[in-house]
Amino acid sequence: MIKVGLTGGIGSGKSTVSNMIIEKNIPVVDADLISREVLSLYPETLHEIKAIFGEEFIDNEGNLKRRELGNYIFKSDELRKKLENILIPYIKKEIFNRIEKYNSVKEKLCIVDAPTLIEHSIHREMDYNILVWVDRDIQIKRVIERDKLDEAQINNRINSQMRLEDKRKEVNYIIDNSRDLNYTKGQLEDILREITLNGGKNEGRKKD
Ligand code: ATP
Repeated sequence: MIKVGLTGGIGSGKSTVSNMIIEKNIPVVDADLISREVLSLYPETLHEIKAIFGEEFIDNEGNLKRRELGNYIFKSDELRKKLENILIPYIKKEIFNRIEKYNSVKEKLCIVDAPTLIEHSIHREMDYNILVWVDRDIQIKRVIERDKLDEAQINNRINSQMRLEDKRKEVNYIIDNSRDLNYTKGQLEDILREITLNGGKNEGRKKD
């Protein structure tokens, strides 16, 4: 099975492209979804959270007090990193479990949709990687419309992420999502055609 990583920046159109892939009945492993499910999938994460952050973040039924923990770590990069260090290994484990499930039912191709694919080195385990890219002005405009944030808030969020220009260097393919959806779909189809024709043999090709 060919494994393809799909990533982007905030509002670059990763979910839009991921939905186009799902419409083609190609299996997609959704890292965002897994990160929301990871606490219930792996109850041991709660023990680790309790050990690091304290009992006050666990309620009487043994569930995480998400909002309280969220508020506590909100302003501290260090605390956020601590929580990430607990959760990321489980999220990665579950990503690879799901890849293996698709492999075991003889799927030919599987996409891993992950906003932090590169930051967490998941891209190194893939046969190919695709970046959904937009130019910054369009990115800001689309996020303003989608999230009803102001430009300063969006700039903060974009600046807190790995730069799209740096992500470009790590991938084999770039989808330019700055134009209309048909243009994006055309690029996606060309890439998928090339990847499946190559049969998963990535000879170190990078494209931009
Ligand atoms: P995030 O990681 O922040 O969730 P994302 O990369 O998944 O974002 P999308 O939600 O797919 O991005 O797209 C951001 C917004 O831009 C959405 O409102 C989407 O409908 C819109 N959008 C995406 N692609 C296009 C396009 N080619 N033309 C016009 N609007 C688009």
